[in-house]
Amino acid sequence: MDGLIERFAKVEPASVSVTSRRPQVVIIGAGFGGLTAAMRLQRTDADVMVIDRRNYHLFQPLLYQVATAALSPADIAAPIRGILARQANASVVLGAVTGIDAEARAVLIGARRIRYDQLIIATGARESYFGHDEWAAVTSGLKKIEDATTMRRRILIAFERAEDSDDEDERRRLLTFVIIGGGPTGVELAGALAELANAALARDFRRIDPATARIVLIEAGPRLLPSFPPRLSDKAAKALTRLGVELRLGTKVSRCDDCGAVLNGERIDSRTLIWAAGVAASPAADWLGIAPGRGGRVPVDPDLTVPGHPEIFVVGDTAQVEGPHGPLPGVAPVAKQEGAYVARVIAARLAGKPAPPPFRYRDLGNLATIGRKEAVVDFGRLKLTGRLAWLVWGLAHIYFLIGFRNRMAVAVDWLWSYLTYQRGARLITGEDMRMSPPASKP
Ligand SMILES: Cc1cc2nc3c(=O)[nH]c(=O)nc-3n(C[C@H](O)[C@H](O)[C@H](O)COP(=O)(O)OP(=O)(O)OC[C@H]3O[C@@H](n4cnc5c(N)ncnc54)[C@H](O)[C@@H]3O)c2cc1C
Repeated sequence: MDGLIERFAKVEPASVSVTSRRPQVVIIGAGFGGLTAAMRLQRTDADVMVIDRRNYHLFQPLLYQVATAALSPADIAAPIRGILARQANASVVLGAVTGIDAEARAVLIGARRIRYDQLIIATGARESYFGHDEWAAVTSGLKKIEDATTMRRRILIAFERAEDSDDEDERRRLLTFVIIGGGPTGVELAGALAELANAALARDFRRIDPATARIVLIEAGPRLLPSFPPRLSDKAAKALTRLGVELRLGTKVSRCDDCGAVLNGERIDSRTLIWAAGVAASPAADWLGIAPGRGGRVPVDPDLTVPGHPEIFVVGDTAQVEGPHGPLPGVAPVAKQEGAYVARVIAARLAGKPAPPPFRYRDLGNLATIGRKEAVVDFGRLKLTGRLAWLVWGLAHIYFLIGFRNRMAVAVDWLWSYLTYQRGARLITGEDMRMSPPASKP
């Protein structure tokens, strides 16, 4: 055992732990980046500790399906302990990290200190309101399961209240849904919401026609899906228009309140504002006491370590990693590849082998779906649209769901939803029956 620690020490002299029998690799965050790193460290002679404030790994790309009542929360989440149950060198701690003592090499969970030899920070991102934090109180975001079930509740309550209302203006406000942000999340939400209104809810009400719901998608840039080629942005725009979604491109929102939004001087009255516009990194830069980069991210060296701290790695949405065309985007494949790379670097250090070459991202392409018939897929030279793209999108998402049970559950739910237009998860849950979000978010 001492030999192993010496081998470790040869590569990173400062990284030897005096308290641990084996080198201790601590990973904060069991999202795409952190979990991939943990699993790839399975065969190393190190203890791997995964800390997360939730007890489950969340497949965020499908949150919008929970928000629009197509899937249930458990379909897109899997317990972290279950995923790592067979990995003998891995342990899990449920706790919210509050800081890092980089000098003493300890992660802080309130007053509790957890020592590390190597640290991987993979704490993802949170919503950003471009300097308008007060908009958090009047819009629904989509980062957590709770956000998705809250959004589902608000959407379904809006239809219920509209059915009950005798006030024509209020009814119109209730049946108007404004989505701010025309990236993949906004586009997918708009498509799914249109289908919920046009098809799944079609026969459920007596006094209102859900298909008359107005869905407005607002994007500040000149086109939807800015990370896709313009041709696919056009296809997405046409598919959404066919579903009845109103597009407002090149339009900035200047005000959000609990009765609607103001854009370019025009007011749209709505009881449901959905925020899909911006994210900022988790506060890891604060924890490390360093200047944050773009979007609060931590700028890292080419081996994904923090400058001056070769024992601290940052991956995924929290890391600012330069690619050939600027910083890499905050998407799951980037986080997964970075997690896998960092595991390779640590395994090489442990084995006393030379470090792998600097990280390089392999772009596997971009996918976004529009309702249950269309999608756009950009695999570089191969670009797909329509039903075939939808099939590719569906298979890719099922394949990437981590727990096998979830894969089966999602596949069955999707197939059922596809064939019948039924929404098995159309439940209003929770006590909060208000239309507007509470004044402060957790
Ligand atoms: C609605 C939505 C749709 C998306 N759609 C797509 C898509 O279609 N395709 C795509 O590629 N990407 C998509 N993304 C982006 C993708 O989900 C992220 O890029 C990816 O999750 C980043 O992985 P990560 O490991 O950096 O962070 P995450 O997967 O966000 O994981 C971070 C983990 O850290 C934990 N954590 C955070 N703070 C703390 C703390 N203080 N203490 C303890 N634990 C903490 C969290 O609980 C979480 O488990 C989407 C994101 C959202 C929100």
